[in-house]
Amino acid sequence: MDVEEFRIRGKEMVDYICTYMTTLRTRRVTPSVEPGYLRAALPSDAPYHPDDWDDVMNDVENKIMPGVTHWQHPRFHAYFPAGNGYPSILGDMLSAGIGCIGFSWASTGLDYKSMSTVLQKFEITKGSASECVLVSMLAARANGIKRLKHQFPTVDEGLLLSKLIAYCSKEAHSCVEKAAMICFVKLRILQPDENGSLRGETLKEAMEEDEEAGHVPFFVSITLGTTSCCSFDNLPEIGPVVRKFPCVWLHVDAAYAGSAFLCPEHKHHLAGVEYADSFNTNPNKLMLTSFDCSLLWVTNRYLLTSALVVDPLYLQHCYDHTAIDYRHWGVPLSRRFRSLKLWFMLRSYGISGLQKYVRRHCELAKYFENLVKKDDRFEVCNQVKLGLVCFRLVGGPDETPEQVDEMNKKLLTNINASGKIHMVPANVRERFVIRFCVVHQHATREDIEIAWDIITDFATELLEGPDK
Ligand code: PLP
Repeated sequence: MDVEEFRIRGKEMVDYICTYMTTLRTRRVTPSVEPGYLRAALPSDAPYHPDDWDDVMNDVENKIMPGVTHWQHPRFHAYFPAGNGYPSILGDMLSAGIGCIGFSWASTGLDYKSMSTVLQKFEITKGSASECVLVSMLAARANGIKRLKHQFPTVDEGLLLSKLIAYCSKEAHSCVEKAAMICFVKLRILQPDENGSLRGETLKEAMEEDEEAGHVPFFVSITLGTTSCCSFDNLPEIGPVVRKFPCVWLHVDAAYAGSAFLCPEHKHHLAGVEYADSFNTNPNKLMLTSFDCSLLWVTNRYLLTSALVVDPLYLQHCYDHTAIDYRHWGVPLSRRFRSLKLWFMLRSYGISGLQKYVRRHCELAKYFENLVKKDDRFEVCNQVKLGLVCFRLVGGPDETPEQVDEMNKKLLTNINASGKIHMVPANVRERFVIRFCVVHQHATREDIEIAWDIITDFATELLEGPDK
């Protein structure tokens, strides 16, 4: 493809995206094909001679699209939103066009500008929340080992590592467990209260008990807006507990909820954040910015970079001591120019536009919650604070909790198999619940009512039989 063909195909691609977005409702929200269908549909080898672009795009529409789960579909209510505001799509396009590999200061200036100046909080854009948690734990681990080495200079680092222990709640995202696996450290998973919130006292007891047993607490990860039920760990209680222990790193994972804090009415969830050593949020969830885009903020960047600096001659430059090189802030050397799309979003929507989106998202969740509450066959199972509602069929007085779980599993399976709407399950207080999240960027009350009608039709069929 030469530049003149790119000029034409690029415009066609924008048209294709626009048509996709405006006709999305006519597609099935989830694929009707089975995993592996593409093996038969496409040749197994790359073509030796170049294919015609029209043939490539025909295959996209006829072979690839049938296997796609349409996250931006108005009937998609699973997981959390995945932003795709148009300015951010343009940002990704420009980033690919510039094609720089942003590991040194020269290509990361906007990261700093958009994070520190525009948002006045964040320090770096990353690919995912999981990476933010991992990098924070790596920094905490290096810091913990350094401290122990100072105390016990003759003891082997491997032995010191075996003493370290991290903490999170049972409601924390699985990325904390994965980070602990990668860091090769122990992780103690604690029980939250009945609202899914980890409490200071629970953490304190666990840390004291572990210290007594010879372990060394070094990292606590708490969540604001958990994945299962959007609960909030009690940061104002946890912060002072963590500070009682020497050199324990407190990380705050607000992957989904963080963008809501752009609205003053949600800022109270940030109480206690002054105790945090690091904080992450994903604009690619609730800030309409296309995947991937996570923000990581750290109070002491030297603690982070001292865990990750490797500085070969071929990467050094004359601004080494004056400019920020984000290659020292994470695992990969090369970085995409992600801040561009976030900057485009901030410039194009303004904070007011993003607040408007967040508010509508939350208002529609409340609307759905009220619909559930009006139907006494159902119950709401979480405190609806942002855009996620967990609900389930209550079941009859003679049914065991296990039977009620089975009934709800059946309900969700039937709904998802129909392809009419898509939702996913979660465990809340050890029970099977259905998660309904407001995801579509332009969702309306009508979309919520359509979803509720589909859910209640399937519930009626399940409870009363297909003919009633
Ligand atoms: N933390 C929380 C609270 C999440 O909800 C999620 C994903 O939904 C993650 C972390 C992981 O996010 P990522 O896919 O960006 O790694």
